[in-house]
Order: sequence, then C-alpha cells, then structure tokens
Amino acid sequence: MSVVRFPVTVEEAAASPGEYRAGGTDVMDRRAQGITPIEDLVDLTRVPALRAMDWLPAPPIDTSESPEEPPTEEELTSEAEAPTAPAFDPVASGGFTIGAMVTMAQMGRSEDLRTWYPGLAGVAGAGATPQIRAVGTLAGNLLQRPRCWYFRHPEFKCFKKGGHLCYSRSDDHSLHSIFDLGPSRAVHPSTLAMVLLAYDADVEVRGGEHRSMEAFLGDGADPLRENTLEDGALVTAIVLPPPRPAERWGYKRAIARRRAEWPLVEAHVRLELEGASIGRVAVAAGAVAPVPMRLRNVEASLRGKKATQANLEAAANLAATGASPLPGNAYKVAMLKGCVLEALERAVGGGS
Ligand SMILES: Cc1cc2nc3c(=O)[nH]c(=O)nc-3n(C[C@H](O)[C@H](O)[C@H](O)COP(=O)(O)OP(=O)(O)OC[C@H]3O[C@@H](n4cnc5c(N)ncnc54)[C@H](O)[C@@H]3O)c2cc1C
Ligand code: SF4
Repeated sequence: MSVVRFPVTVEEAAASPGEYRAGGTDVMDRRAQGITPIEDLVDLTRVPALRAMDWLPAPPIDTSESPEEPPTEEELTSEAEAPTAPAFDPVASGGFTIGAMVTMAQMGRSEDLRTWYPGLAGVAGAGATPQIRAVGTLAGNLLQRPRCWYFRHPEFKCFKKGGHLCYSRSDDHSLHSIFDLGPSRAVHPSTLAMVLLAYDADVEVRGGEHRSMEAFLGDGADPLRENTLEDGALVTAIVLPPPRPAERWGYKRAIARRRAEWPLVEAHVRLELEGASIGRVAVAAGAVAPVPMRLRNVEASLRGKKATQANLEAAANLAATGASPLPGNAYKVAMLKGCVLEALERAVGGGS
C-alpha cells in the first residue's frame, strides 16, 4: 500500500521518498489508469514556500572591471539637459519569481504578471478548463507526462515505458510530432513550457540551481523523459528575466474542439517594434516535437525587418524547416506555419 506524505518545508519535501503530487491532475490520472508505478506520494500542497510570487532585486553592478570615468569639467558645466530617468522600474528589476505551486488560475489573475508579463498571464489564465486551472500548478504543468494514447494505455509497453518500439510510428500518429528528435514521437504536452521558453525563463531546482528553460527541456532525444530534471529533484520556482515594457505578444493554438483539449499545434510570440521595424523577437512552438521549440530561424528572418504582412508570411513559412512528418500528421506542417503567422500578426497588431 502506498503512503501519502505531507511535508511543510522544502527540505522535508525534498527528503521524502515518493512521487511529488502538486495539483494531482496528471499524476493521479496516471496512477488510476495503471500506467505509472504506484509509489508513495509526496503531497506539496502544504509547503507555503512553494507558493510565493515576487519581484527579485537587481544584481549588484560589477564596477571592479571598468570603473566609471568621473565627469569632465565640460560635462559638469554643460547646460544640456540631463537625460531623464527611465520611467520603468518594476520593482527595480531583477525579474520575477513564481513558486512551483502557484496555480495556473493564480498566474492568470496576478496583477504583476498581467501588467508586465501579459503573454504568460494570458495563456496561463485561459488554458485547459477552469477546474484544472484552479488546482493545476506551474511545476505540475511543466512536468506533466505526454498524452500519446499508447503511453496512456496500460497494455502498451513502448519506448517511453522502457520497451523496445514506438507503436505510433507505424500506427496512429495523427496528434504526434513532426520533428523527429528521438525514438518517441509523442509531443510535449506543456503549453507553459513553450511560453516560458519564449520568455527565456529559468527553472529553479531545490538547492538553488538555475537551469535555462532550454537546458531544462533538453533535446527530446531520450524517450523515457520529457526534461532533464534528475529523478527525485524538486522544482521550487520559475524565474523570469526583467520585463520588457514595450513588448507585444501573440498566442495561437489550433485545437480539435473549442475548449478543454490539448492543442494540435500552438505558437507563442514576443516582440518589440522599433518604429516600423521588428527589434527583439522570440518565437516558440508547441505540440510539434518531443520538446517545445524555439524557432530561431523565424526569429532571425524577422529581426530588423519592417513588420509588413509579406515579411511576417515569409518568416512564418520557415517555421517547419527541418520537419519530417509521418503520413498521418503531415497536416501539422501547414498548421504550424499558420499558427506562427497568426501569433505574429496578433503581436504586431497589439497583442493577445
Ligand atoms: C481537459 C484538459 C485540457 C488540458 N489542456 C492543456 C493544455 O492545453 N496545455 C497544457 O499545458 N496542459 C493542459 N492540460 C493539463 C493540465 O494543465 C495539467 O494536468 C496540470 O497543469 C498539471 O498540474 P498539476 O499541478 O495537477 O500536476 P501533478 O499531476 O500534481 O504533477 C504532474 C507531474 O509533475 C511532478 N511535479 C509536480 N510538482 C513538482 C515539483 N515542484 N517538482 C518536481 N516534480 C513536480 C509530479 O510528480 C508529476 O509527475 C489539460 C488537462 C485537461 C484535463
Ligand atoms: S510516441 Fe512515444 S509514447 Fe507514443 S507509442 Fe511511441 S514511444 Fe510510446
């Protein structure tokens, strides 16, 4: 019989043997279906330290290398106006941290996130269903297991369960990956992982280590896991870099039914306009590969270009470069380009 432990500190949680349970929406489902070994559970709901959201202090400026030159006499006597201090200061910004146990609903409601990271708040506050958002947590969302129907069936022992084949490759792969990054063609299920990849967020692991989202997700080659987190390691928070006040965002998902479903394909865009041209830009795509992908070629083709429809379309057309779809999911190639284009159009148009 398995035991459920209820630690109240991060240290107790990390020292407790068993599988972590956050909101429980994925882990309990897997246990009920008999596809996950019935280990002891470590319930994280009573660990207040994992529920914090706050601004981080800016790191101290290192003056040891190049000490600032003192002002010249001319500068001191100049009547030229001193440059005005930038208005932006949330909260003098070393970025923002979101505890692992913050729910998707709390992220969607947070004034700080809605004001300064609207792309993240907008997506977290609208994903899955209201019931799932009320209990589903940030870390649980990142670490949920894939939806491949063979994986979710107790009788199929594929690569992802330590077996020696992938059923979906020769059978039904209609919802699967179009980028062949490893033995498994299951797509990564986490929308928030895709969004946080576009945000250049870090994952904080218990002990203080920060891992970039890209390093945390890995390259998708190992069929047994969807990230690089070591067994038993505890995610404590996500750290967002300082916000970009001029940023616009766009998100688009293609979905088989109106609500309550993982996407067929999704894309997230953050960008800044410099006049009529595109400056900083980040584009990520989900549900097309075993890990969410940053589309660096799309980003590179946009940077410095005018934000015209023709340029957005040309960039979106690069989104599926390198894809090798299977016969049953080739439709995702056009869908990916379409999602990226619409996310770009939404971002340029003012965001959502
Ligand atoms: C109808 C429906 C539609 C959905 N649509 C989407 C969608 O479009 N996009 C999307 O992303 N998701 C979607 N979901 C999935 C949902 O968002 C996840 O089930 C939920 O976010 C998981 O969070 P949880 O806190 O319940 O995780 P849990 O089930 O508690 O945990 C999931 C995994 O994470 C591990 N874990 C949890 N916290 C930690 C931690 N701090 N450190 C280490 N390991 C940890 C657990 O051990 C477990 O393995 C949908 C779900 C449903 C039912
Ligand atoms: S796609 Fe992955 S999870 Fe699905 S059957 Fe193949 S190996 Fe298993």
